[in-house]
Order: sequence, then C-alpha cells, then structure tokens
Amino acid sequence: MGRHRGAGLGGGHDEREQTLNQLLVEMDGFESNEGVILIAATNRPDVLDPALLRPGRFDRRVVVPRPDLRGRQEILKVHVRRVPLANDVDLETLARGTPGFVGADLQNLVNEAALIAARRDAQRVANHDFEHAKDKVLLGAERKSMIMSEEDKRITAYHEGGHALVGLLSPDSDPVHKVTIIPRGMALGVTQMLPAEDRYTLTKKQIIAMILYAMGGRAAEELVFDQLTTGAANDLTKATELAHQMVCRYGMSEKLGPVTFGDDDHDVFLGRDFVMRKDYSEKKAQEIDEEVSALLHRLYAEAKSLLEQNRDLLERIAEALLERETLDGAELKLIMAGEPLPPLPSPVAPTEKESAPAKPERTKEFPGENIPDPEPLPS
Ligand code: ZN
Repeated sequence: MGRHRGAGLGGGHDEREQTLNQLLVEMDGFESNEGVILIAATNRPDVLDPALLRPGRFDRRVVVPRPDLRGRQEILKVHVRRVPLANDVDLETLARGTPGFVGADLQNLVNEAALIAARRDAQRVANHDFEHAKDKVLLGAERKSMIMSEEDKRITAYHEGGHALVGLLSPDSDPVHKVTIIPRGMALGVTQMLPAEDRYTLTKKQIIAMILYAMGGRAAEELVFDQLTTGAANDLTKATELAHQMVCRYGMSEKLGPVTFGDDDHDVFLGRDFVMRKDYSEKKAQEIDEEVSALLHRLYAEAKSLLEQNRDLLERIAEALLERETLDGAELKLIMAGEPLPPLPSPVAPTEKESAPAKPERTKEFPGENIPDPEPLPS
C-alpha cells in the first residue's frame, strides 16, 4: 500500500493512492502523548513512498535480515515445540548446518522431518530425519520413479562430477555438501554447496569461484563426450547473471573500473519508472557486453583446464556416482585424497529377497518356536 505514488503502470488516482494519502494525513494527526503506535512491514523498502519515511511518520526502521546462527537456533526451538524429538537431535548442530535458511525454510525443515519420521512409523523425530529433510528442502524431492537411460545417467554423472570437482579444487568455493544423480525437482542431478558459516559479503574471488563452479558441468561434458547438451542451460544463465553483476553492479571489472551501470529493481509493476533509465552510452554498453563475454569465456576455459588436469579425479567421482548415485562431502574428501570409499551396505536384490525363505525372521520373532523346519523332506 505504501508504494511510491504516481509511478508504474496505471493511473495515479486509484484507491490505493487515496488510502495512502489518508494514512499520511491521519499519521500527522497523532500527538506524541496519545499512545498510538503504528507498525508496518514491507519486503520492498526500495519502492516505498518517500512521504512515509519523513520525520514524524514512521520514525524508526528495524531491519530484519536473514537469521544468524543463534537466530536459527531460536526459530528451530519455536517450531519443534510440539514435535517429539529423539535424544540425538541437537538444535545447535542443526542451526550450524543450515546457514542462509530463513524462518520459513526452518519451519519447512521441521515439517518435512516430522513427515519422514511418521512415514517410518517412528514415535520420535531423529537426527537422520532432519538430515533427509535438509536434503529435500535444499535439493528438492527425489524422483526415483523417473527412468533415465544409461547414456543420460553417464552424462549426468560427469556433468555433476564436473561441478563438484571444480568446487572442490577452487579454494574460494563453498564446501560441496552433496552431489547426486538422482533426479530431483526439475533437475537430472544436483550438486549442492553449503557455506561453512554465515556470510554477509562476497569477495571477488568467491564470485569467480561460483562462476567456475557453474561452468564445471558443461566443461566436463565437453571434455569427456566432446559434445554439448541442453542440460547446462541453467548453469549458463546463472554464470552470465553473476558475471553481469560483477561488471555492472559491483565494479569488479578491471577494464571498466569501480563504476556501476544501470539501476536494478526497476520492475515496472512494483512501481518505479516506466522506462528503464540508462545512465551510460551505447559505446559503454558494447564495452560491458564485451567484458562480460570475455570474463565468461576466460572462466569456462579455466574450468575446463582445471578438469583436464584432474581428469583421473573426475573419472573417479563419475564412476562413484554411477555406482552409488549420491556422494556426500565426506565421501568426496576420500576420493580427493585417493582413498577407497567405504563399502556400500550390501543391498539385497529384490528377487533374492522374495525367493528367500522367511525362516530366519520367523525364528527371531518367535524365539520359543525353534522347531527345526520340516522342509528338507526325504524325497
Ligand atoms: Zn549443472
């Protein structure tokens, strides 16, 4: 309601503006001893009408950022109030492992964990339920029913392996939390980074590491299969956006220097200018395009050569992914150190399980019924 008046699409005499005018008038009428406190909240402080923020109207501004470690722990406490927890759940560890989560994410995490626990008929929500829930919230729900061809699986394994390896090799990158080739949400595979701690600013090196990491997937595909797929479209969008912001917003380009170009947040429907203000010449626009493009080409080549030099590690990660489908941070560390992975918990093939006699289970269930089976009949 407090949006900038007379901006954006539509006329200036609409109901919302009338309401805002009235609100401003009423606020001017409050005396300081009347004991009336007016509180309002917005997630778009940038489009507020300046009149609202003048002295005597909303006097005090309280910024609510993403919660920090302590904040997350307190938010978790609120949401687990009515959830029975197992003894191994430690909210501090949980809060430590969820940097960047906001209140809604944490609530979602608790709900998902409770659902997972209910699905396995548990009385209490255990730590591993929270771990599963975290993956679900971070990576999206697994789509195990989706059938992928062997070829798609191989390409995905190398693609995700490329992301993970570039992430592991660049020192400024966030630690790789998990990499999987089980389709989740819209993606065929996911590599998830998780910052080790709360972060409030990004350095140039960190942004470059993020672009390198985004390029790792396609670079691995090109390196191994010598062909390109459509699977990297999303990565390229992200990389281009980051490079553009480096040049135009953060002034991190050596050639163009500490200058910002253009204003973002000019969404016409949220109400500012109808025409985007362009504060630079056509010549600069061309330089910006060239700079962004050069940055992306350079980083793609860098990601590719990084993978080329560590081809053996890429192969090992891809093979391990094809075998296990998911690798977590600890397993990736083992691969990087050249150590063998712990053996898989030997899965019993379903056909074997079905045809196997139910004898051992029965004797376990009824210990008194230890009568020798009459099965080996003399033929
Ligand atoms: Zn990718």
